[in-house]
Amino acid sequence: MSVLTHPGVKAPGDYIESVMISVKAKNPAEPEFHQAVAEVFDSLRLVLSKHPEYQSARLLERIVEPERVIMFRVPWFDDQGEIQINRGFRIEMNSAIGPYKGGLRFHPSVNLGILKFLAFEQVFKNSLTTLPMGGGKGGSDFDPKGKSDNEVMRFCQSFMTELQRHIGPDTDVPAGDIGVGGREIGFLFGQYKRLRNEFTGVLTGKGLGWGGSLIRPEATGYGCVYFASEMLKTKKDTLEGKLCLVSGSGNVSQYTVEKLLDLGAKPITVSDSNGVIYDPDGIDREKLAFIIDLKNVKRGRIRDYADHYKKAIFMPTDIKLEHNPLWNIKADCAFPSATQNEITAKDAANLLKNGIKLVAEGANMPSTLDATKLFLDAKILYGPAKAANAGGVATSGLEMAQNSARLSWTREEVDDRLHKIMIAIHRNCFETAEKYGTPGNLVNGANIGGFLKVANAMLDQGLV
Ligand code: NDP
Repeated sequence: MSVLTHPGVKAPGDYIESVMISVKAKNPAEPEFHQAVAEVFDSLRLVLSKHPEYQSARLLERIVEPERVIMFRVPWFDDQGEIQINRGFRIEMNSAIGPYKGGLRFHPSVNLGILKFLAFEQVFKNSLTTLPMGGGKGGSDFDPKGKSDNEVMRFCQSFMTELQRHIGPDTDVPAGDIGVGGREIGFLFGQYKRLRNEFTGVLTGKGLGWGGSLIRPEATGYGCVYFASEMLKTKKDTLEGKLCLVSGSGNVSQYTVEKLLDLGAKPITVSDSNGVIYDPDGIDREKLAFIIDLKNVKRGRIRDYADHYKKAIFMPTDIKLEHNPLWNIKADCAFPSATQNEITAKDAANLLKNGIKLVAEGANMPSTLDATKLFLDAKILYGPAKAANAGGVATSGLEMAQNSARLSWTREEVDDRLHKIMIAIHRNCFETAEKYGTPGNLVNGANIGGFLKVANAMLDQGLV
């Protein structure tokens, strides 16, 4: 008997249920990880009935188990000379199709379960990009808010002092995520270079003068809007004149707003963890420049927008509440771009009640399972995160390619490649959904399309 066969193939539903029970038992208190796994498994029912070999090879049990989890202490001195201790993580989830690849998140909410959900999602997302990248994710419960540049630097140096043992341009290539932008990547890269005495593409999202790629900062937001355009094309529609809700005001939101403006849409909201800005006149390029300066340079709060632009309304929010007023504003399209589970079932119901036509997810897993179900049942255009926001990591892949070749492509060249990748991801999801009998369901399309490539590579590579 081959090492890859396993006696007693069950009905797909029973197999999935038994693995899900084990995932919950072995990973207690990690609800986000359970949620991400449950969503993918739900789509895989359709695959497992056609491909019993995945069950024989116990593919699901293997794919939910990270190849490696690294957890470490990050001690640093604050500006008062006090000792601070944070916790650092790197989840090396799956390397079947390439080196581990995925961002670092610095946010007080970071824990093992959140990073495992993000790493799990990343495996399928990276597979969809068509580029050779495995999946990983990492970060820390460090909160960059309110810290001086020197404190952020000392933290990043301490974090990298440990992380550098585990990463490398052909092993594991981290990037940014919430709380990790150009400033943090600079400090992390500097410390890696100093400790390893090598100048390599070990991180993406680097500065343009030292190995970064043009369009990488813009890529997730631009890519998400390209994906939305592809979804609308299937209905012979465009973004021209559409009223758009955007949440968040960080990297993904900023460039989502910019590309929406390029394509003639009218973005009317942004937000942060304290509240929502609703600007009925629309956020134009001058207002966007204000937001970028406020968030990236002044590191201020979004409520300042309403002090500056008097017709805009600020509505305070509490993420712990069951709903967010942002999703109760009438619009055509929604681009959640802040954080996980920011659209609850109630928010989804509000969006649908107000006639939303399209949801394209810039953030990772921004919709709860119940909210996702409502969107799918309503048969609106729904672009799930692992497809719609894959432009960021895809352009990180392009940055790796440029670093390996020691070349820099022009802005137009990178943007053109990003655009083509987003078209290809949409086509793959759309056609896969049809092939598996659920036309228009891009959740199934993305999960199955992403899974097949990784699962087949795992089968080819034996029991490792
Ligand atoms: P940033 O740190 O640049 O911005 C995050 C934004 O979301 C801020 O406005 C922040 O508000 C808000 N936010 C973060 N956490 C919360 C929370 N718990 N409650 C309410 N608001 C919150 O991060 P990014 O723009 O890079 O990331 C946003 C999302 O996009 C994340 O889900 C990330 O995983 C995903 N993503 C990012 C990619 C990238 O290339 N950067 C690639 C693919 C996905 P505040 O300032 O108050 O914290």
